[in-house]
Amino acid sequence: MSTTTHAIAAPGPGAPLERTTIERRDLRPDDVLIDIAYAGICHSDIHQARGEWGEAIFPMVPGHEIAGTVAAVGSAVTKYQVGDRVGVGCMVDSCGECEYCQAGTEQFCVKGNVQTYNGVGFDGEPTYGGYSQQVVVKDAFVCRIPDGIGLDVAAPLLCAGITTYSPLRQWGAGPGKKVAIVGLGGLGHMAVKLAAAMGAEVTVLSQSLKKQEDGKRLGATEYYATADESTFEVLRGKFDLILNTVSAQIPVDAYLGLLRTGGAMVNVGAPGEPLSYNAFSLIAGNKALAGSMIGGIPETQEMLDFCAEHGIGAEIETISADDVNTAYERVSASDVRYRFVIDTATINS
Ligand SMILES: [Zn+2]
Ligand SMILES: [Zn+2]
Repeated sequence: MSTTTHAIAAPGPGAPLERTTIERRDLRPDDVLIDIAYAGICHSDIHQARGEWGEAIFPMVPGHEIAGTVAAVGSAVTKYQVGDRVGVGCMVDSCGECEYCQAGTEQFCVKGNVQTYNGVGFDGEPTYGGYSQQVVVKDAFVCRIPDGIGLDVAAPLLCAGITTYSPLRQWGAGPGKKVAIVGLGGLGHMAVKLAAAMGAEVTVLSQSLKKQEDGKRLGATEYYATADESTFEVLRGKFDLILNTVSAQIPVDAYLGLLRTGGAMVNVGAPGEPLSYNAFSLIAGNKALAGSMIGGIPETQEMLDFCAEHGIGAEIETISADDVNTAYERVSASDVRYRFVIDTATINS
């Protein structure tokens, strides 16, 4: 017998989200049933709920920034007990056998990882995400949320946190390194906090100086407006690493000019249209232009532990189920500081 749980779903592409109920599967031996407390709203939820990323499965229950407590465990689960504080991010399963899964980088599973929502499990059933009160997830895809972090501010770490933590680690953000974060939104604000906690000297490159105070409070030492052309002169050759969190067209060559010799620019934002750059912008300084996709489960756990150790959570605005459609409009208009988090207790009230 499956569990019926309250949820918020998009009935069709672009249709307003509404309250509904969904079924969660019976616990398999390696499953964990989670009482969801909070679910973050990621920009990708909006793209998928609006059907902007191609084929999508409706009704859709978005949400891959999930934080809650364990309500029950399957017979073979030893890692978690009822009452444990846990989180779930963008994936809920993968083959477990390929070289990438074996290396703990399940996001690159050769059979394709199973997305937390708008995906299809290996059992052929569609997956439904975190805008609901309960979820059943295989224990290997559940992470522990340390006691030091509130569940509300922890939820966005499961996507925005790991998406920025992983490239900062991979590309060596740390003491003695100058790191620029492009864009101060959901991803960018996490990147600033994380890079500063790693010991790097952090600069925010934002369109305007509107959020300068916030950027500095979050850990940046410098803040520049990219609308001001002199920024690209003043900062020329300065950075070891640029993390681009913006999903819009940017003048790539101008940004590559801000890198030191041997520096790297990593994209985690993805504009709909191709970006272009001059190959000499890379060649003339042994520079790298790279990308990064979330992070594997072991690294996600490492990120959560790092955040607890450094007292890092997301900057959030907690909303009720009634406000989700308005929140979608506001995220689309970049009018959020810096992540909306749904209090899932409001879904059935
Ligand atoms: Zn996300
Ligand atoms: Zn695999």
